[in-house]
Amino acid sequence: MSIAENISRVRGRIETAAVKSGRTLKDITVVAVTKGAPLEAVRQAQEAGIGVFAENRLQEAAIKVPQIPAEWHMVGHLQTNKIKDALGFFKLIQSVDSVRLAKKIQEAAAALGQIVSVLLEINISGEEQKYGFAPEEIYSAADAVIALPNLRVLGLMGIAPNSPDMEVRRASFKKLKSIFNVCKTLKAENFEMKYLSMGMSGDFEAAIEEGSNMVRLGHVIFGEPKA
Ligand SMILES: *Cc1c(COP(=O)(O)O)cnc(C)c1O
Repeated sequence: MSIAENISRVRGRIETAAVKSGRTLKDITVVAVTKGAPLEAVRQAQEAGIGVFAENRLQEAAIKVPQIPAEWHMVGHLQTNKIKDALGFFKLIQSVDSVRLAKKIQEAAAALGQIVSVLLEINISGEEQKYGFAPEEIYSAADAVIALPNLRVLGLMGIAPNSPDMEVRRASFKKLKSIFNVCKTLKAENFEMKYLSMGMSGDFEAAIEEGSNMVRLGHVIFGEPKA
């Protein structure tokens, strides 16, 4: 299977899931997660029409972002000492997972005179070692982030538990969608619930059916990583 063929199949699957939830292919933003993929593969994905890419590690972003002009997102845990680099690479930081990190991004953004778009990452898996705000923390976190003038919150991101049972994953997507809906009622100039980023290669159809409008796809596009 070529990367172009993978993308074409994925688009078909996204469309079917989107239609099931009363939407179309166009309503879903595909973010191609390039971790582990060689530069040539990323280029092929771009040629096949992918416009948004993501990395979870700064070191890989430093190599790929300058070579592939596109919209790039950060999807991995961001260390506070790497914020300045990240602001140079990424148009959207999907993985803001603590108020402390948000405040550090605010400081760096203010120093650079930049407005930084972010998503708040919610830990919907309930697994303690995972990053993200606990669901019950999100409203106080939202209040804290709304007070940071150089941040623009554009939505929420979540990763389903790595369960073989799709219903378990689906329940976590439902939970995130309901948090998203409540967040939509919060009114602030720098807080807009535009993107609900949920769904990866193994569960994107369920995520879309539950209301995702942004899926983060790695191996379904680029193939299984070589061990
Ligand atoms: C790696 C990664 C993905 C893509 O994972 P696949 O299962 O390969 O689709 C999506 N989101 C995040 C945060 C990731 O780290």
